[in-house]
Amino acid sequence: MVHRNGNFAKFKANYLFVDIANRRKAFCDANPTAKLISLGIGDTTEPLPSPIIDGFIRKAQDLSTAERYSGYPDYNGSAKLRQLIADTFYSNLEIHPDEIFISDGSKPDLARIQLLFGPQTTIAVQDPVYPAYVDGAVISGKAGDYNESEGRYSSIVYMSCTPENGFFPDLSKVKRTHLIYFCSPNNPTGMAATKSQLEELVRFAENNNSFIIFDAAYSQFTGSPPSFILRVSEYIQDPDVPHSIYSIEGSKRVAFETQSFSKLIGFTGVRLGWTVCPRKLEYEGGTPVWDDWARIMGTCFNGPSNLAEEGGIATLSPEGLRGMREMTSFYLENATIIREAMERLGFSCYGGRNSPYIWVRIPGKDSWAAFQELLEKAHVVTTPGVGFGREGAGFIRISGFAHRQDVLEAVARITKALSN
Ligand code: PLP
Repeated sequence: MVHRNGNFAKFKANYLFVDIANRRKAFCDANPTAKLISLGIGDTTEPLPSPIIDGFIRKAQDLSTAERYSGYPDYNGSAKLRQLIADTFYSNLEIHPDEIFISDGSKPDLARIQLLFGPQTTIAVQDPVYPAYVDGAVISGKAGDYNESEGRYSSIVYMSCTPENGFFPDLSKVKRTHLIYFCSPNNPTGMAATKSQLEELVRFAENNNSFIIFDAAYSQFTGSPPSFILRVSEYIQDPDVPHSIYSIEGSKRVAFETQSFSKLIGFTGVRLGWTVCPRKLEYEGGTPVWDDWARIMGTCFNGPSNLAEEGGIATLSPEGLRGMREMTSFYLENATIIREAMERLGFSCYGGRNSPYIWVRIPGKDSWAAFQELLEKAHVVTTPGVGFGREGAGFIRISGFAHRQDVLEAVARITKALSN
């Protein structure tokens, strides 16, 4: 007999998005003519700009010729794309292209990072939290047991991020762990950490000999964007919010950073992202983490799809970058429409300024009741905040990733339903 990896039995019974799908289905079965609008899931909806499609086509044509056909890519990704990422996203931050590992997206990288560290490794996460960090810790045996009444895993340190602390944890009360997952701009709260907060985080990691895994999936350019791009719009609007952890002095000794083309341009289905593993990042004893990360990428991944990479290269061309800015600007405008409508209804809203997510406090209701009310009265699907952690209780997350007419219609329906 083959034994199951016992860690799978430690998963809490219900998975958020399965619960949502079940409730949705039950509602649709009972109301077959209802037209639901989903502002629940954070998936992109808008078509890719044509210069990027041209990049895919060019590569596909290359693959059809004997002269230009190419097989396995470089394990760490194409030198051209790594150089473009270094120049575009890390200008002035001295990230060398060989510290950038191109991948099939941030989520797979977040899972692979867990392989670097053994089951005795302790981890801290923000609460509420993007579920992939915790789920990866469960599978790799770092989470401990799930305590149903606590709504938490026993070995994970949860750093509360609430309106009361400005969504930044009180680090003086956080127990030391080996790894600290930190996401800014944050999914699900939509809030972004300021420069001084990230300095505090990096000092905390230095003092504790911890590593930070900085998830910047909703960030964009660092330093100055390339000169041919007007600073029209991007997710991060606030000049005091860093776009990269590497803007913070000393961070290369303590931090990985993962980034993705998914939400910047709409590659959620194409699959392309990257993780920076600085050469200066060392384990106790001085062994560079880079060597092991390169080994993991070579073993668990065989290099990114050459079609996706060509799309990435086209994205970082002047025309592609213009398209990227238009895209992020569009989703941010959606977020503004939603946020303003919810504020007009009297709700306290967070996020939606430096990120496409709006975190809405629903007083006097638990998250699932609020979810159900919007489903039944407005036929709009949101995400119950409690699904992201205990501190999400009493909140819902509304996503700005949707077609504009759906956002306008959803907002009109919610306004009508909740004004009565
Ligand atoms: N990190 C965060 C915070 C996310 O919200 C997401 C996707 O929703 C990801 C990572 C995953 O990105 P990718 O599509 O590159 O796997």
